[in-house]
Amino acid sequence: MAPNPKLPDASEQARALESRYGWLEPELVIELAAERFFPDEIAAVSSFGADSAVLLHMIAAIDRSLPVLFLDTYKHFGATLDYRDALVTDLGLTNVIAVEPDPVALAARDPKGDLNRRNPDACCALRKVEPMNRAMAPYGAWFTGRKRYQASTRSQLAVFEESDGRIRINPLAHWTPADIEGYMYTNDLRRHPLVRHGYLSIGCQPCTSPVEAGQSARSGRWAGQDKTECGIHITPAGVVRAASAGMGTG
Ligand code: SF4
Repeated sequence: MAPNPKLPDASEQARALESRYGWLEPELVIELAAERFFPDEIAAVSSFGADSAVLLHMIAAIDRSLPVLFLDTYKHFGATLDYRDALVTDLGLTNVIAVEPDPVALAARDPKGDLNRRNPDACCALRKVEPMNRAMAPYGAWFTGRKRYQASTRSQLAVFEESDGRIRINPLAHWTPADIEGYMYTNDLRRHPLVRHGYLSIGCQPCTSPVEAGQSARSGRWAGQDKTECGIHITPAGVVRAASAGMGTG
């Protein structure tokens, strides 16, 4: 019997899904989740970053109208916004939704647009966590493009996991950099233009740096700070969960 997304215990449901389907190839995970487990109540969250094209290409092959949430913090590189538009056209995605900060909260809490320098956690809360919480309300499950190799905080990442009472699905969790590169090459996917300049994990412009050869991709995010995640995947107690930390956009 297909898992029931209405079940109150999402943790139990995620464990059952992981045990039964966590080993499947990403395309099959996406197809099962979108068409059988969570039809009409699943979205994807994409940063349109360094290797976002892989997950989005797989989704487009199954359902081009699946909602794709793009967290527009108003702090992105212009190159990311251009890349988003070009990739959406390439893949024929028809339901990309920009998720934006609340304008009233933005004016009150970051009137000069410099909160990222003074308090990056508060900035992420304002520009990422709160908008994403609002945007996720209609959905029982979501896809991310996170991989285990991206950071030590993601080394135990499951394909199916619970997040705030929803099922978060990371179809590419066990893929390697070679898998990603092979898929990009085989499918001739458009590349984010900043990757060739050393940006291997791309978020907001003020908080993203290029990385040196041999460094982890995520080391270019909030470089020089203790911060490693945007906060969307931090527990209510403020702890980054080892098995579920971070998101495709974080
Ligand atoms: Fe603000 Fe930086 Fe977080 Fe973006 S990544 S929301 S600019 S602190």
